[in-house]
Amino acid sequence: MAFCSLCEGMTLPRLVELAKRDFRAGFFSNKDYYHHHASFQELEICAATKKCPLCQVIVDSFENAMHDPLKPTWPVPAVSKAAATADAGLPVTSATPSTPSIPTNNKPAGATMRDVARQLTYSDVRIALRARHVATGAFINSVEMFDLLGVRLGDRLELGDPLRVPDLMLVLRVPGTTAIDYPSLQKSLPMIEGYKIGCATVDNDLASAGNFGMARSWLEDCRHSHDQTTCSTTAYTGSPPRLPTRVIDVSSIPPRIVHAVNVHAGTPEQGCADYVALSHCWGGPIKILLTSKTMDAYSKALPSNKELPANFRDAMAVTRALGISYLWVDSLCIIQDSVDDWQSESRVMGAVYSRATVSLLAMASPASGHGILKKTPKQSVPHCVVPFASDNGPITLQVETIFQNSENLRQLAETAPLSERGWCMQELVFASRILFYGRDQIYWFCPQGGYKSTEAMPDGILFPHDKYPSISSFYYAQDQSNSSREDDSATVERILTDFYHFIESYAQRRLTFGTDKFPAVSSFAQNVHCALGRHSSGFDYMAGVWSGDFRRGLLFCPQRMHAPHVIQANEKDGKYRAPSWSWAVTDSPIMFLAAQTPLTSLPSPLNLQLVSWGSVLRDPKNPFGPVDDAHMVVKGRTCTLRRSAKHFIGAYTWDKDEELGSAWFDNQPHVEGTNDLVDTTNGNCIVFDGGEDTFMCTYYAPGDSTGTKANVSPDIKNSDKQEYKILMVDLGQQDEEKEDAEDDEDDEFGDDDDWDMTERLIHCLILRHIPSPSTNNVYERVGYLILEWKNRKRVDSWKEETLKLV
Ligand SMILES: [Zn+2]
Ligand SMILES: [Zn+2]
Repeated sequence: MAFCSLCEGMTLPRLVELAKRDFRAGFFSNKDYYHHHASFQELEICAATKKCPLCQVIVDSFENAMHDPLKPTWPVPAVSKAAATADAGLPVTSATPSTPSIPTNNKPAGATMRDVARQLTYSDVRIALRARHVATGAFINSVEMFDLLGVRLGDRLELGDPLRVPDLMLVLRVPGTTAIDYPSLQKSLPMIEGYKIGCATVDNDLASAGNFGMARSWLEDCRHSHDQTTCSTTAYTGSPPRLPTRVIDVSSIPPRIVHAVNVHAGTPEQGCADYVALSHCWGGPIKILLTSKTMDAYSKALPSNKELPANFRDAMAVTRALGISYLWVDSLCIIQDSVDDWQSESRVMGAVYSRATVSLLAMASPASGHGILKKTPKQSVPHCVVPFASDNGPITLQVETIFQNSENLRQLAETAPLSERGWCMQELVFASRILFYGRDQIYWFCPQGGYKSTEAMPDGILFPHDKYPSISSFYYAQDQSNSSREDDSATVERILTDFYHFIESYAQRRLTFGTDKFPAVSSFAQNVHCALGRHSSGFDYMAGVWSGDFRRGLLFCPQRMHAPHVIQANEKDGKYRAPSWSWAVTDSPIMFLAAQTPLTSLPSPLNLQLVSWGSVLRDPKNPFGPVDDAHMVVKGRTCTLRRSAKHFIGAYTWDKDEELGSAWFDNQPHVEGTNDLVDTTNGNCIVFDGGEDTFMCTYYAPGDSTGTKANVSPDIKNSDKQEYKILMVDLGQQDEEKEDAEDDEDDEFGDDDDWDMTERLIHCLILRHIPSPSTNNVYERVGYLILEWKNRKRVDSWKEETLKLV
């Protein structure tokens, strides 16, 4: 087995030198690359006749990937059941057989990347180092590790068709990296000129001694070398954390439920001990539950391992492997048939995770019976071991094709079963130390150490980015009495921005029951409330909206064209969800446009005023939980809005001066007088002047744009029967001085450097009248509307009204 001279000449110092000359993530240098074979045919011959193993891996990778002109990604995973399951984001069960690659007799002729590569006019083989952990566009100064060899055929520009053969990526792994502690794992990765070369080999048996050892070493490393006031909420007391009301004692034989008050654990304080908190998907009913009936039996012994759902069994194994005696699992530590217990425990859910010594997140387990400690059958991919030449002797690396769907924590955090569940979000925010179990790997997070993986990946795009720094840093610091008080308004702003971002990303997740919306964020909201309360007063939680920042709270906008309201049944059976003005009224993705510009200046007297508000709490002790009713009374400027009954799809144009803003109706509108929905895909709802203090809006969608374009001509006479009201909520980024300077057009010395006209928007709600026997001023929110700043003067003449919003 000898390498060809071209493969032998490809030394790591040479590759690093080339990368230093011209590296940009996602872009392949067209001059600074390693010249490999002169054509794909020559590469094939080298593999076939000289039997060069690396050339063979490249050829095999081409052969194993199907060519799809529409989806030019590399490599298309082998068509096996295992791969298909993995593609769907589901963990591969050990029962699923792994098919190494596409059976040769199944491939249609001309269908593989190899077939296409053979037809290229220019196919000289170019090789360069790439890095998985940096975002597209990043330069070499952000690279810490080169863990990929990129292989490109020919010059894309010459080919004229950049999509025919995408770049092949081969991952570089350091073989035999079985060190069971993280510092020595990192030291085992070779370095050239300050760059790590290759990532660590992953042990895909999640129950192996190596993986348990790694988890323990992450915890030990955090305990011994990190500042414990950063990484632990309880470090300042010098004793282990206070246990939740009940925990599972995994050190007793057999394991059993114990009350915290009965735990001594050899510490001076009763009820304090290290514990692990499990976060997992139930994925359907669980048979083994703590109830008033099972309480006595489970306090003596939990059901046998055979009867316990696999997730619980595995969580116990992890807890023991970490050297910890207590485990908290919701279904075994909260009395499931007691409303009182559930309500009081769900109020402190955030604290259960934040105080835990370690939170265990079963990311890839879709149901309690699925298990956490899986051994995923490794998909066989083309690979070889290459002794790369370097200045200090050969560096041996395993080179193998990498699958598009190879697991990383970012992708797990965005698509894994657990992260689709809204509940787990607050666990992620408040947990200080987190041990994540994926399908193929385990991962770690602690505030000082950041994210870590068993592949030893540097921080970057392979890790999630949505930790909510202001709120969580506040949370960790809240018990330290003399932490410094920084500029309060800036802190309040940061906390609120985190809150809006949290709600935005929470709104994208799937909840088992829509009515879980408020409970699922209640711990989060409660802690935001504490955080705000330390810096400012007047922040009440009104069905998801902060009274002290209610204008921005009202200004949520559908992320797609619409965010339909859930059907409200305002009955005693608890079906009521939320008032129309709360983000909780919809199950669709939303965003807070107004939250992206900080409130840096004085509010305008024209802005909406909150007169009063009220709500009926389902659990009177929990102001952050579900509500049975809520309203607010507001005073503000209004005018009339009508919607055109005609929709403009196709070849239309309009005078941009006539466009005054955009509208988003929460519910998709019907074609008047019918049950048909207006096709608003790819459309906009544009706001025009309707005359006489009325605005007019109409749907416009670009369709066939060939030929002459007719004018969009919304006609007030041809509008829906329904009349709407525009309620001005906030004049956007407001600065009276700058406003004056802007009015004075001759002021050529006006310092508008940091002024962005595009941010000056007038934020409004669209309201619809609700007939009410008692008063005539009841309205509901039906949409969101922004007006361009050029409408600013009109607002002065709008009518001032006091309205009740429900
Ligand atoms: Zn070769
Ligand atoms: Zn730490």
